[in-house]
Amino acid sequence: MPTAPVIAASSELRSAIAAARAAGKRIGVVPTMGALHEGHLSLVEACCAECGITVVTIFVNPTQFGPGEDYQRYPRTMERDLKLLSQYPVDLVFAPAVEAMYPPGSDTHVEVGIGQSWEGQHRAGHFRGVATIVLKLFNLVTPDVAFFGQKDYQQTLVVRHLVRDLDLPVEIRVCPTVREADGLAMSSRNAYLSTADRQRARILSQSLRVAEQLFAAGERRTAVIEKQMQELLASEPNISVQYAIVAHPQTLGLLHEIGEEGAVALVAAKVGTTRLIDNTLLGRPID
Ligand code: AMP
Repeated sequence: MPTAPVIAASSELRSAIAAARAAGKRIGVVPTMGALHEGHLSLVEACCAECGITVVTIFVNPTQFGPGEDYQRYPRTMERDLKLLSQYPVDLVFAPAVEAMYPPGSDTHVEVGIGQSWEGQHRAGHFRGVATIVLKLFNLVTPDVAFFGQKDYQQTLVVRHLVRDLDLPVEIRVCPTVREADGLAMSSRNAYLSTADRQRARILSQSLRVAEQLFAAGERRTAVIEKQMQELLASEPNISVQYAIVAHPQTLGLLHEIGEEGAVALVAAKVGTTRLIDNTLLGRPID
């Protein structure tokens, strides 16, 4: 397939969108930071299947990185990304410059309450940056539907709350986490892992399999599930666990017992210098 046109200017994006809208097309967006892998591409595929116009955004958003995080070294692989996207009928790639998205004087941010816990505790300001850029992209692309990955579970809740609380006319779709053959959730940050750390990183998804197995065997006490997850993670001394918990799937509050609504097991750990997250749902489908 031909490579989709890459647009950097908001004005150009708006005219392309206006033309699509006038033609009665359903507009879908897949927001990404580039360094694309099969996880991103599964969202692109879902978007192309559902929408008449698929817009992929590629923007390494500086405001969602904290001081000392990997903003500078985050992989930027535009040429390769475009080649990967050319396998799909993507209509537009929107790849703005940082200065265009945050001109001098920008001082408006969106703070979403559900972003305060877990990732929010370990990455202060992260979800403020995410919510702000997602709102900006929604305002520019005016999508009917937007696609996100379950891989970033708390982010999906932040986006859903943003849409609900600010009355945004966008449907949110969440697609399953795409994994490597050994279970590691695909992530652009996996590229940072040394060979030894890549092996160690498998323990994150293994701890989630433990949670799933216990749940499938009838265990509903979160303390029991968390203990087993944490014991497995502790068996790998070269990683530093930030949290490994079982929480309410919508509020992310801690639970004593898993009830009708199911739960989400969430894990975050540093493997070498690379911070990885993963999750699995217990007793409920992705919605
Ligand atoms: P990122 O480029 O990391 O900001 O991710 C862009 C989108 O791709 C987000 O909605 C992520 O949740 C999603 N994503 C990242 N990794 C995966 C994966 N392994 N499986 C499914 N979706 C993913």
